Amino acid sequence: MRVLVLNAGSSSLKFNLFEMADESLILEGLVERIGVDGRLAWSVGAESGVQEVQLPDHAAALAAMIELLEARLGSGARIHAVGHRVVHGGPKYGESTLITPEVLADIEAYALYAPLHNPNNALGIRVAKAALPDVPHIAVFDTAFHHTMPEHARTYGIPYELSMKYGIRRYGFHGSSHAYVAARTAILVARPLRSLKLITCHIGNGTSVCAVRYGHSMDTSMGMTPLQGVIMGTRCGTLDPSIVDLLIDKEHLDYQAITELLNKKSGLLGISGVSSDFREIEAAADAGIPRAILARDILTYDVRKFIGSYVSVMDGVDAITFTAGIGTHSSRLRAEVCRHLTYLGVKLDETSNRDGQGERLISAADSRIAVAVVPTHEELMIARETVR
Ligand code: ADP
Repeated sequence: MRVLVLNAGSSSLKFNLFEMADESLILEGLVERIGVDGRLAWSVGAESGVQEVQLPDHAAALAAMIELLEARLGSGARIHAVGHRVVHGGPKYGESTLITPEVLADIEAYALYAPLHNPNNALGIRVAKAALPDVPHIAVFDTAFHHTMPEHARTYGIPYELSMKYGIRRYGFHGSSHAYVAARTAILVARPLRSLKLITCHIGNGTSVCAVRYGHSMDTSMGMTPLQGVIMGTRCGTLDPSIVDLLIDKEHLDYQAITELLNKKSGLLGISGVSSDFREIEAAADAGIPRAILARDILTYDVRKFIGSYVSVMDGVDAITFTAGIGTHSSRLRAEVCRHLTYLGVKLDETSNRDGQGERLISAADSRIAVAVVPTHEELMIARETVR
């Protein structure tokens, strides 16, 4: 069974084609600059290529992708199912689901909670269903894994009737990533997932920390939208809501301008004034630029704060796992976070943390809590869900 995984953004379309008999990746690629000019980058094993193509819209992007698959793979380009990454599944979807017209309408309606993501995801589904009408299309939601959060962890302190009326609650995101990383961590520590208390730290452009107790999400740092929690590349993370009032008033911002400011101009970028890219923040911090040092320190501090609070909500922890761009690659961030976890009995194996590659334990043999690095694989999780 060959499964195509699609992740549609406002001007981009990521695609991965898997052969599910052995879960191997046949081809991956990215169509970007849709509506601007157009660029298609792909790789198959060691081979790769880039093409400049005119892509006025998402339908043209999908057509270019299908043409590429046919040109590279011939009859092997036949797709049996499509798995779509959908950011928000709202209150209704605690599981992946076959996309019917009703499901698509719900995904569009949940733009209420994910205005920057769900409309693009829905557009991706529409054009993919039109181009590949004879195969099942499945929505895999970033929020689904967190449906197990207890009510006291997901309810905000506003009048309860309003929460009920509008579905206002913590939903959480990066579900495919937290689920994948938790399952791999159980294998690394050679214990059943259902017996473990885990804290998974997905630290990339978007960041979320999750308390995974006995295989289920118990709490997570992102909220109703992916704006809450730890500071991120360009997103502000948790704020006092009154700051929004103050900025709207003093800076004369409208709704769109404040949304843009909090989503696109805040976080590591807004604090450092240097970049949203953590590699550039680390370089600028090493060069002694004070606001870059501050941005780096805030990210580390936020991650520590969530780890500490999740130890408390789970009444303990067996393993802490780092994933995504920063979590997987920045040994210094991991060392800095773990330096403050000695009270838990965390002890790093400095060599494995600094020099090791890929999925591994980075805790010392006599560490009381296991610490791991697991590169995430959200696309494979979406492909598995599509098959299931
Ligand atoms: P996304 O959330 O868009 O999937 P990623 O998980 O790819 O993002 O993470 C991107 C972040 O990872 C960027 O801030 C980037 O600087 C950071 N990153 C990637 N490689 C490294 C590295 N070697 N050291 C430190 N940070 C890195």
